[in-house]
Formats: sequence, C-alpha cells, structure tokens
Amino acid sequence: MTGTAERRLVLLGATGSIGAQSLEVLARYPGIARLHGLAVGGSRPQQVAEQVLVHRPERLVVADPGHAETIERTVTVACADAGIATPRIDAGQNAVIDLAGSLGDHDVVLNAITGSVGLLPTLAALTSGARLALANKESLVVGGHLVTAAAAPGQILPVDSEHTAIAQALAGVRPDQVSRLVVTASGGPFRGRTREQLATVTPEQALAHPTWAMGRVITTNSATLVNKALEVIEACFQFDLPEDRVDVVVHPQSIVHSMVTLVDGSTIAQASPPDMRHAIGWALAHPEKLPGLAAALDFSAAQSWTFEPVDEDTFPAIAIARASHREGGGAMAAYNAANEEAVDAFFAGDLSFLGITELIREVLDHPRRPRADLTDGVDGVLAVETWARGAARSLIGEQGR
Ligand code: NDP
Ligand code: MG
Repeated sequence: MTGTAERRLVLLGATGSIGAQSLEVLARYPGIARLHGLAVGGSRPQQVAEQVLVHRPERLVVADPGHAETIERTVTVACADAGIATPRIDAGQNAVIDLAGSLGDHDVVLNAITGSVGLLPTLAALTSGARLALANKESLVVGGHLVTAAAAPGQILPVDSEHTAIAQALAGVRPDQVSRLVVTASGGPFRGRTREQLATVTPEQALAHPTWAMGRVITTNSATLVNKALEVIEACFQFDLPEDRVDVVVHPQSIVHSMVTLVDGSTIAQASPPDMRHAIGWALAHPEKLPGLAAALDFSAAQSWTFEPVDEDTFPAIAIARASHREGGGAMAAYNAANEEAVDAFFAGDLSFLGITELIREVLDHPRRPRADLTDGVDGVLAVETWARGAARSLIGEQGR
C-alpha cells in the first residue's frame, strides 16, 4: 500500500461477523490504516478485550450502556495485565455517532452495525468527510435519499459482495452505458421449497446458510430473501438506478457476486469464491489491490455455475420491497423496521417463518401508516420507523402467530 500510512480507521460493529473479519484483514495488511476506534454493542466483553490488546485503538464505544461497566472492567484489567494504556471508553448511542463522525477526509469509517440503528452513524461519517466503507445496508435502505444527499461522489464504498462486485464491474463504464444491474442471490437454505414446506421452519434451520457464515439477522434475511430485497434497494441508491433496472437471479454457488449488463449487450461479472474479506479489503484499500487477500478461483477442476429465476410466489419479499421503493419516502423505513421486529419475534417463538414477510406486507398496507416525504429529513424517517415498530409489535401480539 502506498500513501495511506497515516490513514485512521473507525470500525463500528467490531465484534460481529464483518467486524471480526475486518480486523483480520487489518492485521494482515497493517498499511491500510491505523485503528483509531472501535464501537460494539457490548454483549461480548472478552472478544472486545482481545481486539483492544491486538489493535490498541485510542477509543472504544459501547453502544448499550447496560454492558458498559462489564466491558470497561474487562478491558481495563486486560490492558493492565498486558502493560498497555487503556483506551478512552464511552457508552451510549450518541457516543457511537460521535465516534463515527470524529475522523476526517483522509480517513475511513467501516460501518458494520446491524440494523437501522446504523443510519445516524452513517450520516455522521459522511458529514465528517471520511470514506465510508458501508456494510450496514439498512442505513442506505431506510434513509437512502438522506445518505446519498450527504455523500460526495465515491465517498461510499459498499461492503456487500453484490455491490462490491457491481462497483468493480462498473470501473471504466459511464452511467449512460449501463443497461441493467443483475444482483445474484444464493437462494438461501430454502431454495426449491414450497410455502407449505416453509410453514414449520425453525430458527435453527433458517440459520443454516449454504454458502455464507454471517450474523443472525442477515442470515435470517437471506432465508426469507429479505436480504436480497434490501440489496435491490441498496443498489438503487448506491448506483442511482430505478428498481426496474435492477434484476435478481438465483446463483446457488455464490461465485458470481453480481453483474452489469451494458447497452451493447455485453454483461460484466465479478467472480471469486465466497469470502467477505474480499469485499472488506476492496473497500478499505481502494483503489489499491491487496495481494493474496482471498483465494482465487481454481479452474483446473470442473465446476458449474448455474442461474435460475427467483420463485417470487414462495418468496414475496423482493416484490414488496420494489413496491416500497417505487412509493419512496418512508416506505422502505417501514419495510425494514417491520422486518427487524419480525426477525426478533421469530427467534422469540412468537412468529412463524412465513409470518415474517406477511408482517412486512401488513405493516406496509396498514391504513394508518405515516407517509414521510423527502422534506421531512432524518426525523421523518425515524418517526416512520418508530410507528412501524409499534404497529409490527401490536400485530404480532394481536394475532398470536
Ligand atoms: P453481527 O450481528 O454479526 O454484528 C453486529 C455488530 O454490531 C456486533 O459487533 C454488535 O455488537 C454491534 N452492534 C450492535 N448494536 C450496535 C450499536 N447500536 N452500535 C454499535 N455497534 C453495535 O452482524 P454482521 O457482521 O453479520 O452484519 C453487519 C452488517 O453488515 C449488517 O448490516 C449486514 O446486513 C451487513 N452485511 C453482512 C455480511 C456478512 O457476511 N455478515 C455480508 C454483507 C453485509 P455485539 O457483538 O456486542 O452485539
Ligand atoms: Mg450481500
């Protein structure tokens, strides 16, 4: 790496699947950036202490104040034992936002928080001028117009294999040369099942993803295809295209990470074995390439890559998201909030697997759903979110699914 010796990195969601893999990439390629700060939810104190010992950040933020004391004690003892300085430790959601906005335009913030709680940190990072490596797709989905308005061209680098693939396929392509984006989907663990077969699915079955090891929410979203629905919206905002120019195709091998079809009939694909370190390293090091970052494809053995249409009747999540994107305003915030509540209820045993998408539809069809418009800003989005969470919870409670 050249020219990045002084670059600082803030990592939000350090103990998660993306966060931990990001620290692995950083340990292997220390020239990318110096770790300035970590933010975590707080449920994994031992892991946080280990990360602090290895990477020695100056700041640590614990989002959930209820976990702050345990984290502080564990980290302080670990640092004293190792004879190193304890980082400054803050707690609470405002401290996460403050950390996200604390760097400058030479630096990078990687947002790997799960859920729409990532929106305000995303906006803070963009306002600071830092590069935003964005794994938290929910912030782009729920606040797409706010996020794109706050971002300078090229300031957001997606950390989502599909969008990282599209960004790479678009290198050297002008916007007027693009015909369609083609987002690939593994199909999740229930590809080929009927609705009847999905009626009795358990959380354990939903967590058994065939090709990717990820956090709980995104893994469940991959099983319902809500993740692919969020990714269609993410692509619309990231690449400034309407939803009817973003296709989805099921590709069970997860080798082709997405494609771009050009106006001349050519399709450009990005292919590599499924490994999120590729997307993480791409976004952190761009425009450099990290040698040996992840394994390359081996074409000495026979292999087949297959593509098939999505079964939209069994998995209606994408069609519902397309409609909410066409409506615009706060509809996508309502979609995402309903899904987050539904996933929690599914894990609590209060909602069936098929009930997740049904609940999203009911919340969007609710006659009293507030319609935030583009002038309502972040408060409008948050108000829709709050309403949608309340509506989702009472629908779950009423129907005792
Ligand atoms: P995880 O659930 O594994 O990790 C979430 C992380 O966020 C944890 O470190 C958690 O802390 C932390 N956290 C929770 N709440 C807050 C908060 N309010 N402020 C700061 N940190 C918080 O998620 P994943 O890593 O799987 O996913 C992260 C994001 O990346 C999601 O948006 C997901 O959709 C996206 N993504 C993930 C991929 C993957 O392969 N995993 C692929 C593509 C995108 P704690 O450990 O204490 O709970
Ligand atoms: Mg993805």
